[in-house]
Amino acid sequence: MTEITAPKSPVTAEQFADEIREQLKYSQGVTVEQATAADVYVAASKAVRNHLQDVWMDTQARTAKGETKTVAYFSAEFLMGKQLENALLNAGLTDQFDKAVEALGFEPKDIVDAEYEPGLGNGGLGRLAACYVDSLASLGVPAFGYGIQYRYGIFKQTFDENGKQVETPDYWLKNEEPWGHIDYNRDQKVSFGGEVVEENGKRVWKPAWSVRAIPVDYLVPGYKSGNVNTLRLWTARAYDEFDLLAFNRSEYMEAVKPQVAAENISKILYPEDSTKVGKELRLEQQYFFVSASLHDAIRFFYPGEDKPDLTTFADKICFQLNDTHPVIGIPELMRILIDEYDYDWDTAWSITTKAFNYTCHTLLPEALEVWPASLIGELLPRHLEIIEKISDQFKAELKGKGVDDATINDMAIYTGDAVRMAYLATYGGSYVNGVAALHSQLLKDMTLKNFSDAYPSKFTNVTNGVTPRRFIKLANPRLSDLITEGLGTDKWISDLDLLEGLEPLANDDEFVKKFAAVKQANKHAFVGFAKDHYGIDIDENTMFNTMCKRLHEYKRQSLKILAVISRYAGIKNGTINADDVLPRTVFFGAKAAPGYYLAKMTIQLINNVARVVNNDPDVKGKLAVHFLPNYNIEMAQNLIPATELDEQISQAGKEASGTGNMKFALNGALTVGTLDGANVEIRERVGAENFFLFGMNVDEVESLYATGYDPAKYYESDPRLKQAIDLVAGGTFSEGDRNAYAPLVADWLTKDWFMTLADFSSYANIQAQIEELYTHPLDWNRKALLNVARSGFFSSDRAIEDYLKDIWHTGPLA
Ligand SMILES: *Cc1c(COP(=O)(O)O)cnc(C)c1O
Repeated sequence: MTEITAPKSPVTAEQFADEIREQLKYSQGVTVEQATAADVYVAASKAVRNHLQDVWMDTQARTAKGETKTVAYFSAEFLMGKQLENALLNAGLTDQFDKAVEALGFEPKDIVDAEYEPGLGNGGLGRLAACYVDSLASLGVPAFGYGIQYRYGIFKQTFDENGKQVETPDYWLKNEEPWGHIDYNRDQKVSFGGEVVEENGKRVWKPAWSVRAIPVDYLVPGYKSGNVNTLRLWTARAYDEFDLLAFNRSEYMEAVKPQVAAENISKILYPEDSTKVGKELRLEQQYFFVSASLHDAIRFFYPGEDKPDLTTFADKICFQLNDTHPVIGIPELMRILIDEYDYDWDTAWSITTKAFNYTCHTLLPEALEVWPASLIGELLPRHLEIIEKISDQFKAELKGKGVDDATINDMAIYTGDAVRMAYLATYGGSYVNGVAALHSQLLKDMTLKNFSDAYPSKFTNVTNGVTPRRFIKLANPRLSDLITEGLGTDKWISDLDLLEGLEPLANDDEFVKKFAAVKQANKHAFVGFAKDHYGIDIDENTMFNTMCKRLHEYKRQSLKILAVISRYAGIKNGTINADDVLPRTVFFGAKAAPGYYLAKMTIQLINNVARVVNNDPDVKGKLAVHFLPNYNIEMAQNLIPATELDEQISQAGKEASGTGNMKFALNGALTVGTLDGANVEIRERVGAENFFLFGMNVDEVESLYATGYDPAKYYESDPRLKQAIDLVAGGTFSEGDRNAYAPLVADWLTKDWFMTLADFSSYANIQAQIEELYTHPLDWNRKALLNVARSGFFSSDRAIEDYLKDIWHTGPLA
């Protein structure tokens, strides 16, 4: 661990109150008496920002020296969550803020709540990027996050009266947003289209149109690290004069086109996750932020130099590609080096391959981006030439390694019609990592097997992690206090392995009871949160059982809802004795991609099961179901600490890692889960006896695919499953309408690609074990406490340490 230095510019509560007053006056133009919570939020945020400013500028100055290699994390998504509370924590200003705000006559919580959550990510991948920039700053590593400041984030989710998902635009910038600092003077020009011509023996790209990329800087304060890094999100604007020229020629359509195109580029986040999108605008977005960022990095390390020596570039900075979205950066850096700075191909190639590394986030082949060559050719004609040349060089290299022609063909980066971005990233960078041990192994065995055979040393694993600052300290203050009490120090916040010190306390019944009391208090608090936010009544004396994550078939929300239906039916018809039933409240949280038909139908089904179950007096007090709308970071921070049983029930081999699973374990929930993603490592660490394992493993799944999977067989063989599906098909959850869920039912019975039915019995059977343990609160909580004590490994600080050691080969600033 690096030495922790105190944050700079300490301030008293009185001084901080004065600073907020000053901001209210000079920036909001209101008196304290006139101020609303929203005003105070903006004013306090600006005051905190000012406190971070010196450290930020100092960190940048030290970074710019280039003595320690900088990390640039390239990600199309950063799901940051609300900023104020986190900035206060990391700046060491929480107490001063609380007192100052109270002195001004406000409740601290109301001020923090006044922030609008920036939803610039879909789910796990975007949240991972946010955890990583937090850890980089907290470890004192010089780093930039680079991405896009979308004007519209992930859609807001509500449900209509039929329980269907309704998406509304998330115009998060409609009010003043005090965190992003727009820097018009450090813009970059990003060009598209046109043609490539031969001039004096050189290939010269003559683009057709350009957009202005303007950086919006967000401070990323490390926790007590004395470092404040930068998250630089680009926003796209049109060049006015470009429009005017066309306008003056009376080419009105031509005049508007580039402007509309320009501003569209950063208009909206693609609401997709683990599905294929092949949209032109998406490629424009990817190229837009990557091109601007690469030029930005060159300017940062070689300011004002016309002919910088870029052979040192990869010693100063390396670029981590968060999935395939930024992979166009590889040909872009080649183009910059060759076309803009006159390097020869081989020199450019050696700089580029040294500078890039790639994180693969999937095993689903359909989620690996493949771009039509025609589209790349139209938008980025020079890049297509470079990609072709890379592809040819790759083939020659493979031939030299003795790889046979058929395999070389299978591995083609450029097929003639398409460009495979994952392959380009694997060949064009130094390292490829999967995101959990199992996932990295499966990448080598299956998805990227040929590549792993040809370049074994490129492949490595970095198991994901989550930041303990946001997901324990901020989300769960009660547990944080108890951990600090148990360990006698709060150093665990930046060194999560220290949680191991809680292990002996699992044998101390008094401590376990305190731990149980924390959970109960969190449940109580969540009941209030749910009442305020969703207007629902929850019985806090039921088991809180949660499944929250994106809605996707592979994650198998269907499995959970079928088990709920089966439970409901069992109580109704007496096959389950109502007196024996452990009272449960089941929470779902999940957004479905707007175009994902079966996922949206699953949401509708769950909502209607909830409607029927919650209004049925026969199961009252035994079973309740709530689909909480608009799962986001705020909900995660409130729901996870209150959860007792967490669902991680994806089909084995499909969830690359998961990070939700880590958040729950660290907050003292027990997991019911499959051997998938990081569940495998969680179970290894917390102990098999402290994890509810069910279902097929990867090998069993593969052999079932191989022998031919017939879901109907499982429907026929487990009466609980048959009954549940029959209720759905028979209209119980659609007011008698037998067609309402016909496509879902048909999919279950005839296709069921993710083998929900095959795992149903195992899943239903393990419930008895779960409930038996729950009736012994001391035993349950002992196991939950051991989950906390043994999950320190899942800190994103550890993940970043792995990257530093195995991939980036750099460390904290001197
Ligand atoms: C952690 C998190 C995720 C990722 O959850 P998984 O269960 O790993 O898919 C998605 N969305 C939000 C809001 C999160 O906080």
